Amino acid sequence: MAGTGPVDPGCELCTSDLPAAWVLTYVDGDPDGEGTREALLTVGNGYLASRGAAPEASADGVHYPGTYLAGFHNRLPGTGRDAAESIVNLPNWLPLTFRPASGEWYAPGRGHRLHEHQALDLRTGVYRRELVVVDRQRRRTRLRQRRLVSMAAPHLTALHTTILAENWSGRLEVRSGLDGGVVNANAPEELGTCGRHLDRVGCGTDGPESLWMVAETGDSHLRVALAARTRVSVGSRRQAAHRTVGGPAEVGQVFALDLTAGEPVAVDKTVAVFSSRDRAVYEPLVAARTELGDAGPFEVLATDHAAVWAGLWERLRLDVGEDHAWQLPVRVQAFHLVQTLSPHTVDLDVGVPARGLHGEAYHGHIFWDELFVYPFLNLRLPELTRAMLEYRHRRLGWARRQAAELGMAGALFPWQSASSGRDESPARSRNPVTGRWVPDHTNLQHHVNLAVAHSAWHYWETTADLPFLATTGIDLLVETARFWAGAATYDPADDRFDIRGVMGPDEYHDGYPDRPSEGLDNCAYVNVMVAWTLARACEAYGLLERHPGAVPWFRPAVGRPELEHWAHIGRRLRLSFLDGGILAQFEGYGDLPELDWEHYRRRYGDLRPLAWLMQAEGDNTNRYRVSKQADVLMLLYLLGADELAGLVGRLGYEFDRARIPATVDHYLTRTTHGSTLSRVAHAWVLARTDRRRSWDMLLAALGTDLGDLHDGTAREGIHLGATAGTLDILQRCYTGLEIRDGVLRLDPLLPEGLDHLRCTIRYRGRLVDLTVDHREVRMTSPPGDEPPIPVTVRGRRLRLAPGTTVTVPLDGDA
Ligand code: BGC
Repeated sequence: MAGTGPVDPGCELCTSDLPAAWVLTYVDGDPDGEGTREALLTVGNGYLASRGAAPEASADGVHYPGTYLAGFHNRLPGTGRDAAESIVNLPNWLPLTFRPASGEWYAPGRGHRLHEHQALDLRTGVYRRELVVVDRQRRRTRLRQRRLVSMAAPHLTALHTTILAENWSGRLEVRSGLDGGVVNANAPEELGTCGRHLDRVGCGTDGPESLWMVAETGDSHLRVALAARTRVSVGSRRQAAHRTVGGPAEVGQVFALDLTAGEPVAVDKTVAVFSSRDRAVYEPLVAARTELGDAGPFEVLATDHAAVWAGLWERLRLDVGEDHAWQLPVRVQAFHLVQTLSPHTVDLDVGVPARGLHGEAYHGHIFWDELFVYPFLNLRLPELTRAMLEYRHRRLGWARRQAAELGMAGALFPWQSASSGRDESPARSRNPVTGRWVPDHTNLQHHVNLAVAHSAWHYWETTADLPFLATTGIDLLVETARFWAGAATYDPADDRFDIRGVMGPDEYHDGYPDRPSEGLDNCAYVNVMVAWTLARACEAYGLLERHPGAVPWFRPAVGRPELEHWAHIGRRLRLSFLDGGILAQFEGYGDLPELDWEHYRRRYGDLRPLAWLMQAEGDNTNRYRVSKQADVLMLLYLLGADELAGLVGRLGYEFDRARIPATVDHYLTRTTHGSTLSRVAHAWVLARTDRRRSWDMLLAALGTDLGDLHDGTAREGIHLGATAGTLDILQRCYTGLEIRDGVLRLDPLLPEGLDHLRCTIRYRGRLVDLTVDHREVRMTSPPGDEPPIPVTVRGRRLRLAPGTTVTVPLDGDA
């Protein structure tokens, strides 16, 4: 996490009094950790993001400058599922370096680094860096940099550098440029992602301080344009560029100045980025030049940017105490979430990328991870959830096509998707243990459409957004219900419905030992969530019938017989149980032997890559009772004990709530947490039964990227599901926050590790400031004209009127 390196008395960052709970700091980082630092020092605004790569570096195995526009994708040549779409690494806007007369251009490895301090100031959204280097002639030069991707003006990025010749005088040259020679190379272990996505790069100068660049993707023919301005000055003296440099895909300007030691040189680089995906734009380069022409100097951009961040932080508040060791990690998570999905994302027609806009892992694809992201957003920035669900809705065409290919009605969203909603799941994956490419069947995870349906309903329940339910929501619910109703086959012998040949969330099981990769039968997660979805689709339909005016002309027609069929399936889907009433992960799970955990732990230590390790031994996780991640327990995470008990009971099975702890224990002890989502679900599930363990799980999840706990994968992007999921544990789970029947319900139970928790939620257009500790709950609503909010605290009914504060004692922790 935060580095503790030597303090340089001349370093503004070493001597600054930036508040510790707001600054992610690294001092003199080592090359091995550079990729992870770059990901964690990313600055972005939900439209555009740039990794925290050094401006004087290019991709060299240690450094990886990466800039990404949300939804800007391309496919490299290839066939079938070997050619997946990838988010495109855009021309690098950062290049900036310097040299003293007759010296070498500074680049990593050239010259000697005496000190480097990197600090991400979360409060103002600025990445600051101080670097001191010395060259062969012992000339010591200090650079102070500030970088932002504007939250106020989403097309603008800026890099401000102050250069100080500390012990030398003479000629200094500064080179600033744009590099269109970039390729995608951040996730080389993935199929078909790496290579050159940008063709037809054009570049040039626009006068003595400005550059331009355009490029087009090879297959999707998206265009991107950059216009850059570099202003170099010493005091009030402005220095024009004295020459242009570059090549076919690169352009730069060189500035030369005569300096005396200690005299600061200011280099102000501002870049405007537009693409052919943008709205209200005639042509990207015209737009970039116009935007740049209007852009003020760095200080103005930074002030506007910080003001927007201040407003965002008001909305993101999740305080555990300024002195609490986990306050900074909580803010880092919120910061990166909002840099990926911000109000600027709403109009972009993009989904929730599993690894943020921070790297190229999983090609920038969209999985089911939104399920972990929306609950936090629903109570903060619900317009984002709505926009992301509309992204899904626009892709119903491909989802229907995918269902039809399986001979099914309704819609099936693919396991991985990108621009169009086509299936982008890989056909093969590389086993990192053996280096061999093996078939990948994870696309059998049809449960992704259940996640979308659950998200749509949950958004509606939280926001009461009826126009959404009447359009996007109902389509998503109905089409998902149709798919699963078709997938369920009737067994008259038992009067039961079966769903065969699918995968649950646990990726260690893609089939049976004798039929690997053919899917599983009657997965508990799938069948219960199908029963839930069928019930919600019927409920939504009934609700809209009572609000005919909410429905536009294209309401999907669902006849009575179809609704009744859904209700029937929802009462008769088959589930299996293990001895002792534990819900079995799938039919036949109980026949699988136990793994010799001790043997594997002794042999390998870390078992998160268990599937790969076993494959290298010629064995297969399909054969054992092992899980990569929460699967059955996802039901408790999503539905809670009451709703799960109700659903299982309605399916005609006895569900003894007293068996829940044994169920949790059974699966938890057999899970390797090979997915970062796993700990989020488990922290939630344990919150009421084992607070200490829940807290430990949460801390491990919070450390996923910051501590780079997940096999160094953070260098290829943050884990957005775990990022948002951990915030939601604090926000909803530990406060016991639930919205049911239009009532905001609270039932707080803080872990010992927290003495209080404060957050501001946005509930149905109202702001509620909530503080919870071990003794009481305090709620404040700002003044306004709205009616009071109905609230319950541990069952006690209250009304929170605008402009009032209500305090409710908790009578000791439950
Ligand atoms: C997990 C999936 C997840 C994906 C993307 C995989 O490792 O098993 O559940 O959707 O990563 O985050």
